[in-house]
Amino acid sequence: MSYLDLTIQQMHQALVEGLVTSEQLVKEAILRIKNDKTNSFEALALDQALEEAKKVTSVGEEEILKGIPFLAKDNYSTKGIETTASSDVLSGYVPIFDAEVITRLKNAGAILLGKTTLDELAMGGTGTTGHKGVTTNPYDNSRIIGGSSCGSCASVASGIVPFSLGSDTGDSVRKPASYGGIYGFKPTWGRISRFGLFPFACSLDTVAYFARSVYDIAVLTEILAGHDDKDMSSSYKEVENYSSYLRRENDKKKIGYFKPILDAIDDEKIKNSYFKLLDELKNKGYEVNQYDFPEELLDALYPVYMIISCSEATSNDANLDGVKFGLKPSEEAKTWSEYMSDARTRGFSSLIKRRFIIGSFSLLAENQEELFRRAQKARNLIVEEMNKFFLENDYLILPCAKSVPPKVEDVTNKWSKKPDFIDNHLGIANLGGFPSLTCPLGYENGLPYGVNITGRQYQEGYVLKCGQDIEDVTKLVNSLCFNHKEGI
Ligand code: GLN
Repeated sequence: MSYLDLTIQQMHQALVEGLVTSEQLVKEAILRIKNDKTNSFEALALDQALEEAKKVTSVGEEEILKGIPFLAKDNYSTKGIETTASSDVLSGYVPIFDAEVITRLKNAGAILLGKTTLDELAMGGTGTTGHKGVTTNPYDNSRIIGGSSCGSCASVASGIVPFSLGSDTGDSVRKPASYGGIYGFKPTWGRISRFGLFPFACSLDTVAYFARSVYDIAVLTEILAGHDDKDMSSSYKEVENYSSYLRRENDKKKIGYFKPILDAIDDEKIKNSYFKLLDELKNKGYEVNQYDFPEELLDALYPVYMIISCSEATSNDANLDGVKFGLKPSEEAKTWSEYMSDARTRGFSSLIKRRFIIGSFSLLAENQEELFRRAQKARNLIVEEMNKFFLENDYLILPCAKSVPPKVEDVTNKWSKKPDFIDNHLGIANLGGFPSLTCPLGYENGLPYGVNITGRQYQEGYVLKCGQDIEDVTKLVNSLCFNHKEGI
């Protein structure tokens, strides 16, 4: 056993007791990065990390993150470290400031090892579209880990770091967490500052993170949450002591589920463990009810998400023109317009161009009312229905995905004409800004799958408590790819 294989909580205890040093942890992490086979890394800052670790000579009981290594998705600004969002258009861009969450983690004493791969500009869900190619699943390198936060997920699942930063606009932390057998959490929209997180679709984007236990997720939320003057959309609401929820009696125990989503899952093993989990939760005093969420609203999830996210992305990414950041266009460009169009033609992959076309088309004067505004209206209907759901239920609990991680050759990034509910339901939490946690649930032929809990806005404490009850059932704490466990 290596101390690097522990949760933040356990690793912290070992640091406090002097059983291991931060320098030893960072050296071990560097070794694992060098031997890694998942293609999870963008720019690394290993020498700096080692220097920082050497400065950590003692760790106090209260300094939970001090001396603990972590990685961040490459769409967070990191001062002095190249940041590309896995897109050629940003190659060579070195930010001059840290994202607020990076600053908060550094102030808490955590040690940044570097940046991880993503689906280009965080658009995509497979971990196969970044400029570095496919990021694979550490459980089986012929399979995907999912995206867009692929490298951050793979590096927690493979034991390189006990936690990492991802971002979640539609499911980009919670879907990969399912494929990696770890915990992935997005809090309420506005709970955490997005300053320095490259925008994809601002009304949906959330800072989100991976860890190996619910307790670790709670502790990270305490450190990251809270208002920031640099992001005026961040909430002034008081930051709670989320970890204190985990061991106290839960007075919110009503679980709801949507039957059509379960019907869309063919994998019997996943369905059986899901129902077994619900039975176990009933034994813990939870009540479980089916909720009739209108099917036409489930059908609307994918088009609504695509039109809103692509429209916002088109507008947000208009600044990626080769003038201000990154890629330098060819000398042959004679006019600004040629210069920008050369940068954008060479800088973006076809998936990004397709999304910009969808976005631009939806925003055109003649289409805006029919596409963009209509999608916003449908979004309101979905959120109103969810608010109705939350009048009767405290949590929506559903399997995260219809299968274990698919083979790389079986995934497609093509436009889907017939989207499945089950592929898109995690986006409900983004449309409504709800906190949402993925927990590992079990394994099928040694490959992980997870379950997701979504709760009311600003009730992260309750969502995490429910997650703790699930963790107590599955006993899936600190599952790593080389440390096979069962789940239920
Ligand atoms: N998979 C979704 C998409 O393709 C979500 C991406 C995300 O959450 N960043 O856009």
